[in-house]
Formats: sequence, C-alpha cells, structure tokens
Amino acid sequence: MTDAIVIVGAGHAGGRTAETLRAAGVTAPIQLIGAESYPPYERPPLSKDLLTGKIAVEKTYIQPAAYWAEHDIALVLDAPAAALDRAAKQVRLSDGRVLDYATLVLATGGRPRRLSLPGSDSGRVRYLRDIEDTRAIRAALGPDARLAIVGAGVIGLEVAASARALGAAVTVLEVAPMPLGRVVDRALGEWFMALHRGHGVDMRMGVSVQAIRDGAGGAVLELADGATVAADLVVVGIGIVPNAELARDAGLTVDDGIVVDQFGRTADPAIFAVGDVARAFHPTVGRHVRLEAWRNADNQSRAVARVIAGGSEPYVEVPWMWSDQYDINLQVAGLPSAVDASVRRGTDDKFTVIQLKDGAVVGGVTVNQGRDMRPLQQLIAKAAQVDAERLADPAVPLAQIAKGA
Ligand SMILES: Cc1cc2nc3c(=O)[nH]c(=O)nc-3n(C[C@H](O)[C@H](O)[C@H](O)COP(=O)(O)OP(=O)(O)OC[C@H]3O[C@@H](n4cnc5c(N)ncnc54)[C@H](O)[C@@H]3O)c2cc1C
Repeated sequence: MTDAIVIVGAGHAGGRTAETLRAAGVTAPIQLIGAESYPPYERPPLSKDLLTGKIAVEKTYIQPAAYWAEHDIALVLDAPAAALDRAAKQVRLSDGRVLDYATLVLATGGRPRRLSLPGSDSGRVRYLRDIEDTRAIRAALGPDARLAIVGAGVIGLEVAASARALGAAVTVLEVAPMPLGRVVDRALGEWFMALHRGHGVDMRMGVSVQAIRDGAGGAVLELADGATVAADLVVVGIGIVPNAELARDAGLTVDDGIVVDQFGRTADPAIFAVGDVARAFHPTVGRHVRLEAWRNADNQSRAVARVIAGGSEPYVEVPWMWSDQYDINLQVAGLPSAVDASVRRGTDDKFTVIQLKDGAVVGGVTVNQGRDMRPLQQLIAKAAQVDAERLADPAVPLAQIAKGA
C-alpha cells in the first residue's frame, strides 16, 4: 500500500500544500501535478507588474524553480489530471499515466467564465488567468492600441490601470450600474469610477454587449442600446468557474466548488480541496464560502497540509483580499452580506470604511490606508461591538479601538 500524497493543481495553493507538508516533516512521496508548464506561481502580478513588464516571469514563482527537486517533491508539469478512481485510490493523467495515492489534494483553481454571444469566439477576445494570457494581452497592447474590457470587476479594473500605464486607450463596459459590485458598496464603486475616469478610462456602466463583429480594422462591440465600441483587443473579466469536474465526476459534493469542512476535507477522508476550487466551511463567517483570493490560497492550503501531516487545527481566518490600481491600494476584509451601517474615517484619498451589522463590526475596506487592516481584522474576528461615533473619530486610532475591544 502506498503512502503517497498526490496534489492535483500545481498553482499557488497546490504548491504551498506540498511545501508545508515537507516543512511539517512529512516524508511520504509527494507528487504535484500541473496542467501548465510553469512551476507554482502567484497570479496577482499577472494583471499588474507582469502585464506592464515591470517584472520577469520568474518573479511570480512561489519558490525558485530548483526548490521542488531539492525538497523531493515530484513536479509533474504539462500533465492535466483526467479522472479520479476513488475506489482504487488512483488519479489518471490525460497522457495515460496512473498514480496511486493514500491522500489526494485537489488544488485545481478556476478558469475564466466565458462570454457567450455572437462573435465572442473572435481571436481578439482574451481572458486573463495564466502567464500565457498575460503574455498575449501584453503583446497586443501598446500606445496606439484600443482596448475594450468587458466586466468592471477587480481583474477588469486592474487590466484597465495597467493598459493605461502602457498608453492604450481603454473602454470598460459593465452591465451593473457600478464597478466592483462584488467587493465594495455603491459609494466606493463611485469612488473607483471617478478614479478610472480621472486616468482617462471611458467607463460605461449599465451597458450590455450583444455581439462582437470582427473586421480588418479591429473588433466592433455592439451594445444593447445601439452604441458601438471599436477595439483592437477585448479582455473579458466576468468571474471564474471552479475547476471542480474531477471531484464531481468522482461523486464528491460540488456546489459552486468542492465542498469541504474547516479542515479542507471532503466527505471522502482521503481527499482534500484547497484554494479557489474549495468551498470551505469558515468558522468566522459561519457558513461555507469559496474565496478567490491570494491569502486564502496561501493560508488555507498551509492549514490543510498541517492537518494531513497529523495536526488538528482548522483554518480560521477573516477573509481578506487586495487590489492595486494606479497608485491606489484597496484592501477588503470580511464578507458582509447585509450591512446596516458604514462608518468612514480618513481623507478623500486615504480612508477606511468599517461595516457594522447589529452593532458588530463585520467587514471593512481600506483605500491607501493599509495600516488599519490588521486592527480591522481583529475587530471582525471578535465581531466587536463598537460605538459608531468612536469608530468615526479620527483622533482615536483603530489599533487602539481593537486593543480595547
Ligand atoms: C490576474 C489575477 C490577478 C489576481 N490578483 C489578486 C490580488 O491582487 N489579490 C488577491 O487577493 N487575489 C488575486 N488573485 C486571486 C489569486 O491569484 C487566486 O486566488 C489564487 O491564484 C488561487 O490559487 P489556486 O492555487 O487555488 O488556483 P490557481 O492559482 O488557479 O492554480 C490552479 C492550478 O491548477 C491547474 N489545474 C487545473 N485543472 C487541473 C487538472 N485537471 N490537472 C492538473 N492541474 C490542473 C491550473 O492549470 C492551475 O495551474 C488574482 C487572480 C488573477 C487570475
């Protein structure tokens, strides 16, 4: 019987899982199976410094390329896993190889949700999830390029900022009335709209793309209101779909991601899921959530690896993500669904918004005010009841409020 650990998905979460297993003293064979040709890397620079050309590809690697062999982790690249056989405890790769496992970790992340409308299969339409996507988008961008971005979410707006830095003319098309609707409230959405307009982006909200016509002079996007937008390149950022088919086809519970507990375990005790593909129970929010964020990929995978190594600590952390656009750093903590009050402190270009529900701090946002993030997370973790007037008082540092809460 094998004691091998197989990790499917050699991305951020898969890589961290392998690394943490070795650091925790696990000596069993570890195989890290990746569909891409790169060693595990971080994706945040793909829409930022890698896209603008400020950094080289190797800078995105979570470890130097030689690390994996040095730690006796078998990195198997360009080898997508095709199927699981839970009864036989085997993974079949698309090239026919079959791997036995004692423990299996699914770290397959997600793929971009595709546009489905006439002409959306045009070669001018691109998505951004991996290094090759960044390379292709960068190759098509330049001072004279006209870029249309479909979707004013985090990825769309980061691409807009990077493309402006490269001198491209940028139009953002969004069906919702405000940008960043999944991460910030309306007031902050307006703030980000003004930010991008101030940088020369044509922000068109409440519009719906109906068709994309490809011609010799570029693509023409046809909008529902009859308007048209001409573009050399179209980048679509309308969310991701979790790569959960392996789990689903093997009979595991999948519901917008592979459903796992706070230890990353599926209903099959030999199979775990980590990162963007996992819909994990989160003690701090009291329900199952699927997080698409760097820190979750980084820390949930570490927590799960320690459980596989024999530990018993669940993953308990306030959800957190960030985005960089131009010289603006946005950070978001918590997952407030229904908020009944928001308190804002700071100036027009450097501020913190604290969200309350039933008097308790449930979430918050900082804009160029990262130093408030740690106390904010402490307040959220405690569901601290804090007087709104005190929260709004600029004379009282948030760190002091968190200490006393
Ligand atoms: C452009 C971009 C910018 C981002 N910026 C930020 C940011 O600023 N802040 C933030 O908090 N988060 C950001 N994120 C989110 C963050 O990068 C993700 O949450 C993180 O990458 C998730 O890690 P993961 O390992 O779960 O998935 P991934 O990193 O996607 O890795 C999954 C890997 O599994 C592989 N795979 C899939 N199926 C198979 C299979 N069948 N067999 C083998 N391998 C397979 C995939 O090819 C991929 O390499 C960004 C994401 C993107 C795409």
